Amino acid sequence: MNRRRRIYEGKAKILYEGPEPGTLVQHFKDDATAGNGAKHEIIDGKGVLNNRISEFIFDKLNGLNIPTHFMRRLNMREQLIREVEIIPLEVVVRNVAAGSLCKRLGLESGTPLPRSIIEFYYKDDKLNDPLVAEEHITAFGWASPQELDDIMSLAIRVNDFLSGLFMGVGIQLIDFKIECGRLFEGDMMRIVVADEISPDSCRLWDIKTRNKLDKDRFREDMGGLVDAYREVAQRLGILVESENALATGPRLVK
Ligand code: UDP
Repeated sequence: MNRRRRIYEGKAKILYEGPEPGTLVQHFKDDATAGNGAKHEIIDGKGVLNNRISEFIFDKLNGLNIPTHFMRRLNMREQLIREVEIIPLEVVVRNVAAGSLCKRLGLESGTPLPRSIIEFYYKDDKLNDPLVAEEHITAFGWASPQELDDIMSLAIRVNDFLSGLFMGVGIQLIDFKIECGRLFEGDMMRIVVADEISPDSCRLWDIKTRNKLDKDRFREDMGGLVDAYREVAQRLGILVESENALATGPRLVK
């Protein structure tokens, strides 16, 4: 049925050749993985929700002149994106201590950080995505000093926007991960936000209850992942809260 050329398949997404040169189709799967693939499950409906939530966020970022690879959503599971050269870094911004930071530095989860912290992890599954310093990034040429400046400035702008967006719907943005890519336009190259931004790549806590509305529900075997993602989508106004939303799955608006 699928005659498009598959360019790349990752743990949660597939990239296909796009309809025009310089474009790709990003397909969201229902696969959830953790611990570098050690834990793997199919969670019905996750891909559809992440496609919608990521579309909503990237569309708003584009509107704020924060450049991204996102062009438009094509259908329930797919979006049209610009082809970029992915920089092999996971760029993590943290506002509150959680996850690997707590393990590494012995902090209690939930401790507010004195200021937002940006970290870089080198994307390499064989090495388990190790934490790296700016020195490694520039010495090994994964990104130039100028590119690293651009990446950090994008990360801070995304953090400011996302923190406010989620705060407005009663959710605290604990931390998140972005990936960046080089977008070539004629002789020009600029760094843009790529990949996805969704509850798979953010830690989102309900401000009042501290309930986790993100992938930690899967990592920590808490259950209720799709309900949590649906809750995020509903609060953002992407899904209409309908009486039988849980019985019928997400009801899409727009
Ligand atoms: N993250 C991600 N992909 C990864 C690793 C981390 O999207 O491969 C996100 C994660 O969801 C969290 C943030 O980056 O929002 C920081 O994750 P952390 O370093 O605490 O790692 P973890 O505890 O997930 O191992």
